[in-house]
Amino acid sequence: MEDIKENLEKIWEKIKLSAEKVNRKAEDIILLGASKNQPVEKIIQAYKVGLKYFGENKVQEGIKKIENLQESYPDIHWHFIGGLQTNKVKYAVKYFELIHSVDRKELADEIDKRSKKINKVQDCLIEVNIGDEESKYGVKIDDLEELYEHCLNKTNINILGLMCIPPYSDNPENSRKYFVKLRELKENLERKFKKKLPHLSMGMSADFHIAIEEGATIVRVGTAIFGERKY
Ligand SMILES: *Cc1c(COP(=O)(O)O)cnc(C)c1O
Repeated sequence: MEDIKENLEKIWEKIKLSAEKVNRKAEDIILLGASKNQPVEKIIQAYKVGLKYFGENKVQEGIKKIENLQESYPDIHWHFIGGLQTNKVKYAVKYFELIHSVDRKELADEIDKRSKKINKVQDCLIEVNIGDEESKYGVKIDDLEELYEHCLNKTNINILGLMCIPPYSDNPENSRKYFVKLRELKENLERKFKKKLPHLSMGMSADFHIAIEEGATIVRVGTAIFGERKY
């Protein structure tokens, strides 16, 4: 069995050290357990050691877990971190506190529309295809500003920042330039639209320490907490 407690203690320590290195406070960084493809037992284990944020990347799987756990553990924060199909939006807005993956106008429109129906203002991040990769979700850098402005004109979608998954590399240091780029894109939007964007969701098991040095406020960590994904 994975020692989730030991894993989490190591990660929290690493978060603290990375934050201190750049004069940030560890409390300002949210550790999001990327719990996709992990059983609820492991989520409960992590929760009991103090992890309160979990991210799922499939709507169906996420809802199943939320329905299973929300009564016993109502203070868990559930985030949606995967690519989101338009026809799943009505379920996603009902269950998730923060959607990390807005990457096109049609998706933003649907989130706005479905949230309105349930009297919710849905907090979201815009996912940026930071490495300009064919295979990846995310808006192209050149289209980011237009997408953000589009969202600003909607009443029931509230953009809180940006998210990215850098191109895969064996060397985590290679992620740094993409994290810097995402931070700069966020700062450009803040300047241009005169509105603070509090969140940068970046960094995974291999490179979250680097993401923190570059300003991440949410790090999404899966295997380093839970071990290899089981299904
Ligand atoms: C699975 C996943 C993660 C975590 O990946 P690990 O390498 O296991 O830490 C982070 N972000 C997203 C969007 C994911 O789907």
